[in-house]
Amino acid sequence: MTQLHIAVVTLFPEMFQAITEFGVSGRGFNQKLIALDLINPRCFTEDKHQTVDDRPYGGGPGMVMMAEPLLQAIEQARCLTDSRSRVVYASPQGTPLTQQKVLELAAEESLIFLCGRYEGVDERLLEATVDEEISLGDFVVSGGELPVMVMIDAIARFIPGVLGNELSKETESHRDGLLDCPHYTRPEHALEQLGYEVPEVLLSGDHAAIRRWRLKMSLGRTWQRRPDLLKSRVLSAEEQYLLSEYQQDLGNS
Ligand code: SAH
Repeated sequence: MTQLHIAVVTLFPEMFQAITEFGVSGRGFNQKLIALDLINPRCFTEDKHQTVDDRPYGGGPGMVMMAEPLLQAIEQARCLTDSRSRVVYASPQGTPLTQQKVLELAAEESLIFLCGRYEGVDERLLEATVDEEISLGDFVVSGGELPVMVMIDAIARFIPGVLGNELSKETESHRDGLLDCPHYTRPEHALEQLGYEVPEVLLSGDHAAIRRWRLKMSLGRTWQRRPDLLKSRVLSAEEQYLLSEYQQDLGNS
């Protein structure tokens, strides 16, 4: 049963095979847990060149995506999904994407994404149709397609049945305001000649000790790599204890 219906307005619909055909998100589309409609604004042009961009008013470099083909494409997207679908524009001027935002988007029944190209989109179209602008970070890429694919991939992981192992998202980075712990796998003696080994506790079979070690490493890594994340999170008594243990271990090594 389809749980999320997504429509994307894009000049490059073929690019989306990267998420529909491969990996975890590919399984979501394959099993029809997520439905995807790709709408090309070129289909809503009337001239023989199918023009969707024009020079900016006021002059300057580059081209701007024209409002009208985009408006019709978004109307089509509403017809295919739901007239009340939330419209998200991928933009370096938007709110930076977080796991919290991904979770919120995954709870919608339908979503419409707008991908910009060139210098961007006629501002009137954005004002008329867009509910929310979301950025992938403080840098600029040349089109909204990759950012929108990143958003859809992150959303897909929260759709029940998409992840092979539902537990894996419980333990990964940013679920609980912490970074993930380090992972190791067979063979046990890999890279031994270079002086590396698997932490003993992970081979012990002592589940309580393993849980504590993992939590301690998550806390320690977050403290070292992303202290900003710890500022906005209250630590339990156990967590405080494990973090100070991590800090002591570091002092002793
Ligand atoms: N002149 C625009 C950038 C245009 S880049 C500006 O400075 O705001 C072309 C398109 O790529 C944008 O319309 C947007 O859809 C997409 N894009 C570029 N950088 C992005 C980012 N960091 N996050 C999300 N989308 C981005």
